[in-house]
Amino acid sequence: MTDTLVRFEGVRKTYGTGGAAAVVGLDLDIARGELMTLLGPSGSGKTTTLMMLAGFEMPSAGRILLEGRDIAHTAPHRRGIGVVFQSYALFPHMTVAENVGFPLSVRGVGRADRDARVAKALAMVRLDGYADRRPLQLSGGQQQRVALARALVFEPPIVLLDEPLGALDKALREEMQLEIRHIHQRLGVTMMYVTHDQAEALTLSDRIAVFEGGRIRQVADPKRLYDRPADAFVAGFVGENNLLPGMIEARDGEDCTVRLRCGPVVEAQAVDCGGVGQSCLVAIRPERIAVAGVTASDLGEGALPATLQEAIFLGDYVRLRLSVGDGGDILVKRPAGIGALPEPGGPAAIAWPEGAAFAFSDAV
Ligand code: ADP
Ligand code: MG
Repeated sequence: MTDTLVRFEGVRKTYGTGGAAAVVGLDLDIARGELMTLLGPSGSGKTTTLMMLAGFEMPSAGRILLEGRDIAHTAPHRRGIGVVFQSYALFPHMTVAENVGFPLSVRGVGRADRDARVAKALAMVRLDGYADRRPLQLSGGQQQRVALARALVFEPPIVLLDEPLGALDKALREEMQLEIRHIHQRLGVTMMYVTHDQAEALTLSDRIAVFEGGRIRQVADPKRLYDRPADAFVAGFVGENNLLPGMIEARDGEDCTVRLRCGPVVEAQAVDCGGVGQSCLVAIRPERIAVAGVTASDLGEGALPATLQEAIFLGDYVRLRLSVGDGGDILVKRPAGIGALPEPGGPAAIAWPEGAAFAFSDAV
């Protein structure tokens, strides 16, 4: 039995009157100790969802339960939730220790206890020795660690993080992603993390809720989200995918045959597509496609003739762009340095393992 810490029940949010809903009808459970990421493009309702849980926005309809209690009438500071934003929102005139100790001062924690807990929180984010600095004397990554320490210092049951690494450069962002993950594992604190970056979501999360247009498209662990996307939006947003338009020619339960708009006929697993005669999108991950500089008949049954248009060397892997049939465009990724590439413009063929192609409805 999972121990549910937070539950969104039919939550809807409309800003102002007559505007479009920012969050449409949200049902989501977050288990105690879980790191749940809300992933979606800009404007999909992620921040609005966090703000309603933190108490800075009121839902227009529905309920939010924290430890089983409806928190509609609980003021933000009484919800006991830690929050970290992209803009660090540190107090510039206070030292690091005073910033981190602030939530404790507000809660009336005495001096000695406060100092001990601040020291512990700073050690947790590897900032021991920085207690007397001011925020402007720290790097961006260090400032964000201070913000994290401030959110953790009063040992809240849940910490909300809204794009906390958005202002950092790539290398530092990746280092901090692992650090947040390790802090989460060490403390067992529940975290709700917002990002628009799918790689960040895959790195960090126990589970990911994919948002689009104020709705959740799918909730799943990273591996399942990547391997078994529920619809074409998730297939295209999480990782890279070839999404090829086509028409269903035959369907037998989970299996279907699709005539691609560019010509070839392929087998696919039917995920949420309709029946014969319906249009659909066939998704095939670029790393699952094999390429050879031979004719399709040499590569075996089911292989498609293709022409290499472009090869881009990216150090550890190569991106190949091939044309297939009449106007079909296929991306292939493969590790660099293994096997020869086909000649640009020369004969080539592509193939993928059985089960690697999925058919989705194109009405998303
Ligand atoms: P995300 O965090 O996924 O980028 P938001 O929750 O910030 O998305 O926004 C969802 C939608 O609500 C967007 O269309 C946005 O323009 C709108 N919105 C967000 N905040 C406000 C606000 N304070 N007033 C009016 N509209 C808002
Ligand atoms: Mg946002």
